[in-house]
Amino acid sequence: MNGNKIRLSKSSISSLEKEAVLKVMEKEYLGMGEEVKLFEEKIKGYLQTDLDVVCVNTGTSALHLSLSALGLKDGDEVLVPSLTYVASFQAISAVGAIPIACEVNPKTLFIDMQDAKKRISKNTKAIMPIHYASSSKGMKEVYDLAKKFDLRVVEDAAQAFGSKRDGELIGSGGDIICFSFDGIKNITSGEGGAILSSDQEFIRKVQDSRLLGVEKDTEKRYLKERSWDFDVKEQGFRCHMSNIMAAIGIVQLDRLKKFKNKRQNIAQKYIEELKNVKQLEILDFDYDDVLPHIFVVKVQQRDELREYLIANNIECGIHYKPNHLLIKYNLGYNLPITEKIYEQILTLPCHYDLTEDEQDYVIENIRGFYA
Ligand SMILES: *Cc1c(COP(=O)(O)O)cnc(C)c1O
Repeated sequence: MNGNKIRLSKSSISSLEKEAVLKVMEKEYLGMGEEVKLFEEKIKGYLQTDLDVVCVNTGTSALHLSLSALGLKDGDEVLVPSLTYVASFQAISAVGAIPIACEVNPKTLFIDMQDAKKRISKNTKAIMPIHYASSSKGMKEVYDLAKKFDLRVVEDAAQAFGSKRDGELIGSGGDIICFSFDGIKNITSGEGGAILSSDQEFIRKVQDSRLLGVEKDTEKRYLKERSWDFDVKEQGFRCHMSNIMAAIGIVQLDRLKKFKNKRQNIAQKYIEELKNVKQLEILDFDYDDVLPHIFVVKVQQRDELREYLIANNIECGIHYKPNHLLIKYNLGYNLPITEKIYEQILTLPCHYDLTEDEQDYVIENIRGFYA
């Protein structure tokens, strides 16, 4: 093996993205305009959905603007698994609501609905399931619970663009779905995110709120016009997507099929080559459907293995430190299943540019560690 570090994850940028950015530069219209409109149309086309698409500057903003548009306020509660990126929690607390940390199912690392149900109170307004490692086995139970208790569902699908559930692309249906296009996600627009919903009132609100609440500014910008005489009725933010970002995203969306094949092959190979390592557990995902943003396993002696891999120039990760262990989000109770899982999870290198030799080397080292 050469001395280069094997990356855990990375963007894959071809000459096509570079050309697309250059074209926007040459037009000298960098902000939100026709490229953003086109990217939204292309996402809608790819997902073959009736839901409307609103692009924003990050996945975190997608979640934040969504909760804001639902009118969540101080003291409202949102059910969310503790095992997620802090972005999910920050988006909830940004609107003054309280993230109520829940357990996950130890086999799928998806929100545990028994536990979530226990934590419903009169203040519960929404549930935010996380499509952990791009899988969302158990969404039917989420929607059933939401219906029963009159909750809105905000899917944190940041990791799940291009992933399917029961043969259907995530984001092709549902209440509110939020994607991330940050640098290492399944596709990237540099940074970026998208909000999808069929709720017209909600869509109008997030369209306005991404542009400081300026009413109907989206329509103006798509006509290359500006709003001079306008009104503002609600709190807005500065969270729109730029044409530069959208131009990158459009190219990445065209390349998604290749990304998907490669990432799925990487996952299949890890499963095939590691399934007999008895100290290691593969998560219970439908891998034909899942387009894995990260490849996570549960292992014994996690910290020792991790140090061993790092010493052998293999980057690996821990997704995530549970949020209820952070000072800001400590609600004064423990989540024993999540805390145990936190000691076991390890994320292995998975990205479009990972070579076969590199992956063989990762597998060899994991086997070698336990041999
Ligand atoms: C990446 C991610 C986010 C945030 O997306 P950004 O585009 O980085 O703001 C939110 N939730 C989860 C689960 C993520 O993986």
